[in-house]
Amino acid sequence: MATADATTSYRLIDGKQTAEDIKAEIAAEVAQLTAAGQRPPHLAAILVGHDGGSETYVRNKVLACERVGFGSTLLRYEDDISEAELLAQVEELNNDPGIDGFIVQLPLPPHISPEKVIEAIRPEKDVDGFHPMNIGRMVAGLPALLPATPAGIVELLQRYGIKTSGQHAVVIGRSNIVGTPVSILLARNLESGNCTVTLCHSRTKDLPAICRTADIVVAAIGRPEFVTADMVRPGAVVIDVGTTRVADASKKSGFTLKGDVNFAEVAPLASAITPVPGGVGPMTIAMLLLNTLRAAKGEVYPK
Ligand code: NAP
Repeated sequence: MATADATTSYRLIDGKQTAEDIKAEIAAEVAQLTAAGQRPPHLAAILVGHDGGSETYVRNKVLACERVGFGSTLLRYEDDISEAELLAQVEELNNDPGIDGFIVQLPLPPHISPEKVIEAIRPEKDVDGFHPMNIGRMVAGLPALLPATPAGIVELLQRYGIKTSGQHAVVIGRSNIVGTPVSILLARNLESGNCTVTLCHSRTKDLPAICRTADIVVAAIGRPEFVTADMVRPGAVVIDVGTTRVADASKKSGFTLKGDVNFAEVAPLASAITPVPGGVGPMTIAMLLLNTLRAAKGEVYPK
């Protein structure tokens, strides 16, 4: 699974291939379920407005559903949908026995509270793993629908056999969807945890010095090429979560996707590193599909 660069010794952590492996595993399980007479798992997505990034993410999620044999439903609304109308749609999906899980693509327009919408989703259908019930269960070490991106990071570390026990992980960024949950997952008393974790953010003093003490660096900041060679200890494992669209006239799309790590500088120092694109991003979709399968099977919240 791992590949080595011809001139350096780092391993490229191939999230794209790992996500393909996971999707093949899910597709095999769906085939078994349907052969046994069950209907395939069904994921619904609510998309509000026309944000370019959100449109791409949701399109990719729906396509991924089709590829593993899931059913999928895309519900689109204009920016002017009221909070009450959106909450009514959430309630409809909560009560629809044909829907195993659903997501409300963020960000939402400013007049709609994302917290209110997330809390309205039934925890057993919250396949993004953002509901306080799922976050609370994760913190308590109970079975939970885990947030997809952090779960994808831990899955990559595990599938690449990267040692976590006793290692010092430095997570940069403390958002509810990436930085905070990944810091919790890495610290758990489980095979894929047992790190000593330092969670850094914009108020952290001397971030480069802290990063240099890390065995594992997770960058989830949203600032292109923020992590430079002077911040990374030789031999560290570097996980780049950042995906920022940077204008690029040479591209048909008009932009290039940039990570939070200066790959050219940092990769030669690292023992293993994720690229952008093709690292954490594809894993997020694979873990969303895995959550949907777990929801359909009633694995966390028995039906
Ligand atoms: P976010 O909510 O904007 O949070 C960014 C975090 O970075 C905050 O905690 C912030 O600190 C911290 N930060 C900002 N500037 C900093 C600095 N100079 N030094 C140290 N910390 C700094 O972002 P997010 O939603 O977590 O997303 C982060 C990145 O990951 C984005 O590029 C996003 O597109 C990407 N992402 C990718 C995936 C994927 O599937 N690959 C999924 C989700 C997100 P404060 O809390 O102090 O403000």
